[in-house]
Amino acid sequence: MSELYKLGIKAAAEGLSRKDFSSVELTQAVIDRVHDKDGEIGAYLTFDEEGALAAAREADAARAAGVVASPLCGVPIAIKDLINVKGQPCTCASKILEGYVSPYDATVIKNLKAAGAVCAGRVNMDEFAMGSSTENSGFHPTHNPYDLSRVPGGSSGGSAAAVGGDLCIAALGTDTGGSIRQPASFCNCVGLKPSYGRVSRFGVTAFASSLDQVGPMTKSVEDAALLLKVLAGHDEMDGTTPHDPVPDYAALLAGASLKGVKLGLPKEYFIDGLDPEVKAITEKAIQACTAAGAEIVEVSLPHTEYAMAVYYIVAPAEASANLARFDGVRYGHRSAKSDSVFNLYARSRAEGFGPEVKRRIIMGTYVLSSGYYDAYYGRAQKVRTLIRRDFEEVFTQVDALLTPVAPTPAFKLGAVQDPLTMYLNDLFTIPSALAGNCSMSVPSGFTAAGLPVGVQFIGDAFKEEKLLRIARAYEQIRG
Ligand code: GLN
Repeated sequence: MSELYKLGIKAAAEGLSRKDFSSVELTQAVIDRVHDKDGEIGAYLTFDEEGALAAAREADAARAAGVVASPLCGVPIAIKDLINVKGQPCTCASKILEGYVSPYDATVIKNLKAAGAVCAGRVNMDEFAMGSSTENSGFHPTHNPYDLSRVPGGSSGGSAAAVGGDLCIAALGTDTGGSIRQPASFCNCVGLKPSYGRVSRFGVTAFASSLDQVGPMTKSVEDAALLLKVLAGHDEMDGTTPHDPVPDYAALLAGASLKGVKLGLPKEYFIDGLDPEVKAITEKAIQACTAAGAEIVEVSLPHTEYAMAVYYIVAPAEASANLARFDGVRYGHRSAKSDSVFNLYARSRAEGFGPEVKRRIIMGTYVLSSGYYDAYYGRAQKVRTLIRRDFEEVFTQVDALLTPVAPTPAFKLGAVQDPLTMYLNDLFTIPSALAGNCSMSVPSGFTAAGLPVGVQFIGDAFKEEKLLRIARAYEQIRG
């Protein structure tokens, strides 16, 4: 009973429906665990304990009355602090939004609440999701639960640390260039970036609107499938979500196998500079898939080398436009020192944004400025199309791609000071984000020092059911 916080969604749902424990007991176990451990991990920014217990009581009543909306009924889910939940703070881990309280629920939260989930804990992140270590949080860093001297990855580092440290049952993260998958790899959890448009972005504070996706960060592939089912689908508030039906992903996992599955190894992803232990763990994953009957094919995504450059034009450009709304007037922090409207804007932004956010705004404003727009942004969009075509072409040959998630395991807090080195964390996750494909990180092994390392499976757009089946089969055979 006392270790209920260790459960994933599926086990929690089973226990709740067998009445082994109540949602109040489950939620209290998570709250106690957070009190016990989060002092050293720092995964959470805020936790509305009363709200959580009230939602848990409601879920218990619904289960008692036999109206169980979903397996998530009564299950506490940690929410990345850029997703709006009515009545809760939503800071994006930025000082500029300190004190801001959301007036409405994001669509993903509406869906979770309709399913009966308990959404009360808000987890840390890199400010406005810009970063790969959660060290860019405007409030405090988060520590990796597997080694407290190391980062949990980012930008969804709080989500990953909460899942990996058993400080929640599951979490929501967002991924723009790798922010679900890289921290999932660092903290031993499953992280799924859905295809662009699979999940509504309404109510999710925008970083780069043409890339952002919300996705599950969980303790198993099955849990990711259960959570994705609730998150996904058309939303009239987000015009990029098509009407494609949402399959029952978890039910489709039954009998998942790698027999006859064609897995592509893009040669551009197996490069010098890959950490030797990450390389060895990835090779072991390939061997395990082969032994389980998968056919391994070497493939090529020839425009991969341009992905990083394209991302660091497109993402900052969109960020500079999206972040213009934080002007000290409409939301959050307002400088006390302003004597004119211009100074009010300038000072509020100068005081409120951290250095990485400022760097992105400056880069983005530059690449969009007149005279440079075509040379940078326009050209980047064209190359992005070439990158997407690489993936379209390769998915006529293979069922999924298998690659490393990140070039290294979790690094020490403070060890990466240079922004360009930090950007390299996303070398393997950015291309599929630019293409809009679904992709996921699945735990794959540990380094000699005990650090988790994931493997990435990349699937064709809107083929999450296939990707999840492959990930599930791998999870069962990885040993
Ligand atoms: N680390 C990448 C960046 O800093 C990706 C972030 C993300 O996916 N939100 O932009």
